[in-house]
Amino acid sequence: MVLNLREIFKNRKRFAQSYTFKPEDVKLPPDLGEITEPINLYVEITKEKGGYMVHMEIEGYVVLQCSRCLTLYDKDIGKIENIRIEPYPTKDVVYLKPGDLNVSFYEDEEAFDLVNLLREQIILSIPTKPLCSPDCMGELGGIEKGNTTLGDLLKKANML
Ligand SMILES: [Zn+2]
Repeated sequence: MVLNLREIFKNRKRFAQSYTFKPEDVKLPPDLGEITEPINLYVEITKEKGGYMVHMEIEGYVVLQCSRCLTLYDKDIGKIENIRIEPYPTKDVVYLKPGDLNVSFYEDEEAFDLVNLLREQIILSIPTKPLCSPDCMGELGGIEKGNTTLGDLLKKANML
């Protein structure tokens, strides 16, 4: 999905649209996770001085592998984000100020790739150590679980 921002904002200040992307449209790097269901996106773009503000409402799931027990599970990556987009900074001008974390860049105002920005946002939602549940003990932990005593846990945590 490539947008010609220059054209879209010739006669208006705000652009709003809903999209449904097929998994193969978004596609993540395979070591990060897999998208198997369509991703819904509602986007609102407003023109600002020196760039645009992109409001994104993302709905969808990514299949991740639990870093402890290695099972695959669905991670909800639904979120609402506001991202400012600007032209790529040239070498001599620094646009980025500390604290401006939610800034993304586009190379071509006439060919702004919305899917790239969506993919970026999904990747930011993926934990570095995915867990199928917050208390997942992993494969070994799961087997031991039945007869683990408080003492075992404390020993494990070096508290005894
Ligand atoms: Zn797990």
